[in-house]
Amino acid sequence: MEEIIRESGSNFIEDAVREDLAAGVYDRVHTRFPPEPNGYLHIGHCKALVIDFGIARKFGGICNLRMDDTNPAKEDNEYVEAIQEDIHWLGFDWEDRFFFGSDYFEKDYEYATELIRKGLAYVCELTAEQFRDPAFCGDLTHPAVSPWRDRPIEVSLDLFARMKAGEFPEGKYTLRAKIDLASGNFCMRDPVLYRIRYIEHHRQGTKWCIYPMYDFAHPIQDALEGITHSLCSLEYEIHRPLYDWVIANCSVPSKPRQIEFSRLNLTNTVLSKRFLRHLVETGIVDGWDDPRMPTLCGLRRRGYTPESILDFCSRIGVAKTNSMVDIAQLEHCIREELDNRAPRRVAVLHPVKIVVDNYEDGKVEYFTLPNHPKMPELGTREVPFTKELYIDETDFCLDPPPKYFRLKPGGEVRLMGAYLLKCGEVIRNEDGSIREIHGTVDLETGNGNPSDGRKVKGTIHWLSAPYSEEAEVVLYDRLFTEENMNEIPPERYDACLNPDSARKLTAVRIEKSLKEAKPGERFQFVRDAYYCLDTRNPNTFNRIVTLKESFKG
Ligand code: ATP
Ligand code: MG
Repeated sequence: MEEIIRESGSNFIEDAVREDLAAGVYDRVHTRFPPEPNGYLHIGHCKALVIDFGIARKFGGICNLRMDDTNPAKEDNEYVEAIQEDIHWLGFDWEDRFFFGSDYFEKDYEYATELIRKGLAYVCELTAEQFRDPAFCGDLTHPAVSPWRDRPIEVSLDLFARMKAGEFPEGKYTLRAKIDLASGNFCMRDPVLYRIRYIEHHRQGTKWCIYPMYDFAHPIQDALEGITHSLCSLEYEIHRPLYDWVIANCSVPSKPRQIEFSRLNLTNTVLSKRFLRHLVETGIVDGWDDPRMPTLCGLRRRGYTPESILDFCSRIGVAKTNSMVDIAQLEHCIREELDNRAPRRVAVLHPVKIVVDNYEDGKVEYFTLPNHPKMPELGTREVPFTKELYIDETDFCLDPPPKYFRLKPGGEVRLMGAYLLKCGEVIRNEDGSIREIHGTVDLETGNGNPSDGRKVKGTIHWLSAPYSEEAEVVLYDRLFTEENMNEIPPERYDACLNPDSARKLTAVRIEKSLKEAKPGERFQFVRDAYYCLDTRNPNTFNRIVTLKESFKG
C-alpha cells in the first residue's frame, strides 16, 4: 500500500499541505478520519481514508481515528467496532489515537460559554417552525431575524446553564452564534450551536441533554487533537467560513485548516449510509455485508481485496469537482488483480450430461491442468476423466449459428486438456429439455492433435460426473438499474433495484478440490468468472466479477 500511495501523483491537497509546510504555517502534518458511527463504511469512505491516512503518511505525519458521535441518534457500538475492523482491513492504522467526538462535550460546553461571554453567542427562543419561516430565516434578498439576538449576556449565560441542567423541554431554546443575519452564506446567519435533546448517548448515557451541532463541535475537536489539515468532502465547503469562525473566536490550542475534496459517486450505486441502512433494515439485502453492498464488508465478502480497492482509489484521483465514476473501473481493478493471481478451477454452472459411448465404464484417467496459465509456480492438478461427464449447457447448441465452434450436432470440440469429443445422439426429456448427449472421443488425442491434421477450433470445459461435487453459486450483478442514482430522488431508490442483482444456481458441478476451499478463497472458474467462497455459507461461491467487461451475465 505504501507504494500505491507514493505512486499516486501529486494532487491539490498535497500541494496545499506542501505550501503550508514551506511557509511555516505548520511544522508537521496531522490529519483525522471522522466517521459518524451510524452505519458501516462504504467505498466513498475509502476514498476519504486514502486521502486522510495517505496525506499523513506521505508527509511523515499521523492520522487519528475519531468517531464523530456528537449527534446522539442512531449510534451504536456495532458500528464503532465494524468501522475499526474495516479500516484495519484496508491496512491503515491510527495506533493509539482513537477518539470520540463525545469525549469533548465538556470542552465544547466551555467554548460555548466563552462565546456567550464574548457577546458572540446567545440563547434564542425561535421554534423549529419559526426557524423555517421566511419571516425569521429570511431569503436571498432579506436578512434573517431573531428577536433574541440582543438579549443580555448574563441572561444567555443563565439560560444556557439551565438548558444543560435539563430545565427546559426540547425545542424551547437553542444557542446560536452571533455572526451575520444578512450573510449571503446561510451557514453564517447566526447558526445554531446547541440544541436540547433528551436522547441517551451511546457513551455519555443521560449525562447531557444539550448536544453541540457538528459545525461547532468539529473544528473544536480538530483543534484539541492538534489536527493541522482537516480534510473532508465538498459538501462542507460552504461550512468552511463557520469552521474558521469557531477556530478564530474560541480560545482553542491550535488552528487547523479545512480542505475539501470531491465525493466519490459510483454508477449504479447509492453511497448514503441512511439508504444502505434502509436496505438492511427492510431485508432487501442480506445484511451490511451482502455481497452486493458498496460497503467495505460487502465488498470483502464479495471477494474484493484491499489492494484492489486501494488501487481503485488511487486511480480515480483527488479532484475539486464532483463527478461520477463508472463502477466498471472498480471491477477492472479486482479483475486485473485476480487475473494475475487467482488459481484456475473448473465449475460447470448449467450441467448437462455427456455419455462417452466409446469409453469404458468404470475407467478413470487423469489429465493434468495448469493452476494458472501464466504462473507455473502455482503448479498443476490432475483431473479425472470418466465415461459420464458434465459440460455446460451454454456450450451446446442444437441449431447453431454460423461459426459456432462449441458442441453442436455432428460437431467436434476439444474437452479442455483432454480428448476431442464428437457429438452423437441428443436424448431429450418429455418436456423437450436435454437429458443427455451421447458422443465419442478420439482416444488418440489425449495429449495432442489428431494425426489426420483436422482442425478443431472450439475448446470447452468439462467435469467427470462421478468425480465432481455439487455446490451453489450466486451470480451478482449491479444493485441498481439506473446509472446515475444521484438524479433519482431517494423515495424512488427502491423502484430502481435490479431484480436480477443476485441469481442463485443450486446444482452447479465443481471440481472435488474446491470442496477444500477456505472461506474467502478466490478462484477463476475457467471460461466464466472469478469467484470467492462465501464466508457465511460453506458451499456457496460468490461471483466477484466476470472475466470480461462486456460479458453480460
Ligand atoms: P453518508 O452520506 O454515507 O452517511 P457521511 O458524510 O455522513 O456519508 P461520515 O461518516 O460523516 O459519512 O463520513 C466520514 C468521512 O468520509 C467524512 O470526512 C466524509 O467527508 C467522507 N465521505 C463520506 N462519503 C464520502 C464519499 N462518497 N466520497 C468521499 N468521501 C466521503
Ligand atoms: Mg457526515
